[in-house]
Amino acid sequence: MIKRKFIYIPYFGAVFAVLCFSISHLFAQSYRWNKIVSDQFVVFYLDNDRNDAEDILSKLQEEYPRLKQAIGAELLAPINIYLSNSERVYKHIVGNNLPEWSAGAALPAHRVMVLKSYNTNSDFRKTAIHELVHLLIDEAMNSVQIPRWLNEGLAVYFSGEKNFASTSLISKALMTQSIIDLSDIDYVLTFHESKAQLAYQESYLAVKYLIENYGVQSVREIIKKIAITNDPDKAFMSAIGMDMYNFEYEWYQYVRKNYRWHFLAEFDTYLWMSLPLLFIVIYIIIRIRNRKTLKRWESEESYFDEDEI
Ligand SMILES: [Zn+2]
Repeated sequence: MIKRKFIYIPYFGAVFAVLCFSISHLFAQSYRWNKIVSDQFVVFYLDNDRNDAEDILSKLQEEYPRLKQAIGAELLAPINIYLSNSERVYKHIVGNNLPEWSAGAALPAHRVMVLKSYNTNSDFRKTAIHELVHLLIDEAMNSVQIPRWLNEGLAVYFSGEKNFASTSLISKALMTQSIIDLSDIDYVLTFHESKAQLAYQESYLAVKYLIENYGVQSVREIIKKIAITNDPDKAFMSAIGMDMYNFEYEWYQYVRKNYRWHFLAEFDTYLWMSLPLLFIVIYIIIRIRNRKTLKRWESEESYFDEDEI
């Protein structure tokens, strides 16, 4: 039987998704993989990707102690990292179910991470850290599910993916009262693209708020307690003295107070975008005014004509 398992996919300005695919693709060994090895990681690479493979290995080794400490879990066996150098190789490994924008994927059940070395839209080193966070959380959870906002928020927070640090979407959502409940982010696969983007930004900001206000040890505590109790509310209560609902309410008050007007930072963009429209409006106003002036002149002319008679 083909074993299936959730995989985690970082997205880059597009969509958040969790999809399933068959690991059997990995065993289609059609490529001549080279590899470099450390105690925790084995990086497989092709052709000229040796430098990228070394970059990834050193970045993962550098970050691993910090992540291990923050999440409170360690890798029980080495992770195999496949560095694909073309769309063809990537799809050969992960299958066709992943969207075009996916920059990488983690398969916790198989201790595998797949990355794109050819993707110029994202930094594959950061993607590697993002996926390592998912793999470590999975290691800690012991098959228990963790709220998706917490999982993705932690991956984004520790990888430092800058494109999620923007607050523009959340600011607009506050203005239009369309903030997504954190618990609803579990259903992100049913969201359309822009709503999914907002879900990622919210996840990141909620984790940032949690760490900045309750310390990184609260993350460890929450993960540990969810793994034991399978109850996020109990875990939050034990770690920070309030359940997830009350944490969300506190976080919401914070973002409302601090991010509501951030969309105005894009005012200059709106201004440039609206300039052509502004020119058209001015042109129409001038035309109307000119017509009125002409009509007035005509009527004045006819008045003087009559007067001469
Ligand atoms: Zn992810």
